[in-house]
This record gives sequence, structure tokens and C-alpha cells, in this order.
Amino acid sequence: FASMAKSNFAYVRQFETEDRCLPNTWIVVRVDGKGFHKFSEKHNFTKPNDERALSLMNKSAERVMNDFSDVIIAYGQSDEYSFVFRKNTSAYNRRASKLMTNICSLFASSYVFHWTEFFPDLPLLYPPSFDARVVLYPTEQNLRDYLSWRQADCHINNLYNTVFWALVQGGLTPKDAHLRAKGDSSEKNEILFTEFGINYNNLPEIFRKGSVLLKQKVKETCVKELKGETAESSPYERTVTQIHALHRDIIKRAFWDEYPHLLSN
Ligand code: ATP
Ligand code: ATP
Ligand code: MG
Ligand code: MG
Ligand code: MG
Ligand code: MG
Repeated sequence: FASMAKSNFAYVRQFETEDRCLPNTWIVVRVDGKGFHKFSEKHNFTKPNDERALSLMNKSAERVMNDFSDVIIAYGQSDEYSFVFRKNTSAYNRRASKLMTNICSLFASSYVFHWTEFFPDLPLLYPPSFDARVVLYPTEQNLRDYLSWRQADCHINNLYNTVFWALVQGGLTPKDAHLRAKGDSSEKNEILFTEFGINYNNLPEIFRKGSVLLKQKVKETCVKELKGETAESSPYERTVTQIHALHRDIIKRAFWDEYPHLLSN
């Protein structure tokens, strides 16, 4: 009876649509915090850049990269993170909704899971959430341009925010600060330098360039304790994947020449 009922109902499965990503293209999943303008205010983020919040974003992204072995590079800034799968990944059969929802929910749960490590004295006031999208890039140039676009966005926003908050902390209303900060980039550099003695190029690279996460395979020697009569230990080697963060220019060719495997398959 049970199996009969099952076969009578199972047709509803056919309502599900295919969402496999085109083969031989880079799959990028980008997550972005929902309403983080408000979230950052409610949780007293340091303006313009709260380092604890950036570190928590990086930690969450590291958890995602550990779980998804085919994510070869990730780039994060502000409340967003982009995860790039190797071109020929077959993770989840390249199904967009599987990739996107698993990454997004792991990212969000990791953000909450690790919150107290980065904000020990500041309880979470409500559960944060993130949106996600999948974008496919067919050529090396498209993929590099995508990441360049995100890094340029980081720079533009950070320069604006640095000027804006310097002016606000200097006594201007947000409205007046905006009016003064909305000029071109040389005007903004000028305001920072002459009025606040800040040389923009000397600000921490994590603020100006965002974070690039890369993987590195390293060999480790382990000592396995053998239980039983022979209390001998036998050393053995294993390969572990380490994730490290860089805060550097990924727009220029030099970065990609240094890590050619990112653009292979
Ligand atoms: P949406 O839901 O449409 O994404 P949003 O409010 O999250 O809306 P974003 O454009 O994503 O808007 O901008 C994120 C905002 O979060 C930034 O403008 C900034 O105010 C805040 N923010 C994110 N990270 C930090 C940080 N490390 N330090 C300070 N503020 C931050
Ligand atoms: P996948 O990642 O493919 O979804 P899965 O291990 O989550 O793999 P499911 O088919 O979703 O597999 O099955 C969920 C499993 O979780 C159940 O088979 C059961 O073992 C366990 N589970 C879920 N809810 C409960 C519960 N309330 N009590 C006990 N076990 C549960
Ligand atoms: Mg958005
Ligand atoms: Mg956001
Ligand atoms: Mg954002
Ligand atoms: Mg399940």
C-alpha cells in the first residue's frame, strides 16, 4: 500500500525544473548580507571598517571553502563573499540551487556559530541572513573582470566611506558629509590628506583591497598512537589543505601569473 501511494504521488517530482550550470564555465556563488547597513549599526560596528566583522566574514568563508573542495578561490569585502568553483567541477552535478543554497546556509550558520569568537562582549540581537546568486563566466577574461569588478567596488566604497566617516567624526552632519565626500577620487584623497592627515594608501590593505582566500596543500607528519600491548607509535604523512588570506591586488595580471592553476580547469 505504501509503495502504491508513493507511485501515485511521485509524479509531482516532474514539476521540478533542471538547473544544471553550463559545463566548462566558472561557477561563481556570491553571498551578501541582508540589510547589513542596519545590522552593522545595531551591533555597533566600527565605522567605516570593523575588523572583527571582516574577520568573521573571512572565518565563515573559510568554513565554506573547507566543505567545498572545488572552490579554488574566494573574494570578500564588506558584507559579501564570492566563491569560485574550478571550471570543470561536478559538485552537486553542477546544480545551481544545490550549490547556492548549501553555500549560503553554511555561510550564514558559520557566521552565527563563530560570532562570539569575534564579538565576545556583544550578543547577537537577531539572526542575520544572506542572499545568494549564481553567475557563470565562460572565459578567463570574464572571470578576472568579475573579480576585478568586486575589488574595484571595495576600493570605491572604502574611499568614500573613509572620507564620509572622517567628516562625520569631525562634526559634520551625515548630509553635509555626503555632499563633501561625493566628489571624484582625487578630491577625496585631498580631503583625507589635508584635513585629517590621512594618506589613503597607508590604510590597512584588508580595508582597501578586501580578502582573497586561497588553498594550499601541505604535507604533515602525524604520529598515530597505537593502542594495545605494543605502545609503539608509527609516524605517517598526510596531506592537508590550508586556507590562507591575502589582501592584495587581483586586478593586475601579476596575481594570476603567480597562481596559474586558478585559471586551468
Ligand atoms: P542589502 O540587503 O540590499 O544587501 P545592505 O544594507 O546589506 O542591503 P550593502 O550594499 O550590502 O547593503 O552594504 C552593506 C553595508 O554593511 C555597508 O554599507 C556597511 O554599512 C555595512 N558593513 C558591512 N561590513 C562592515 C564592516 N566590516 N564594518 C562596518 N560596516 C560594515
Ligand atoms: P542529504 O545531504 O543528501 O540531504 P541527508 O543525510 O540529510 O543527506 P536525507 O535524505 O535528507 O539525508 O535524510 C535526513 C536524515 O536525517 C534521515 O534519514 C535521518 O537519519 C536523519 N533525521 C532527520 N531528522 C531526524 C529526526 N527528527 N530524528 C532522527 N533522525 C533524523
Ligand atoms: Mg545587495
Ligand atoms: Mg548587503
Ligand atoms: Mg554588500
Ligand atoms: Mg538532508
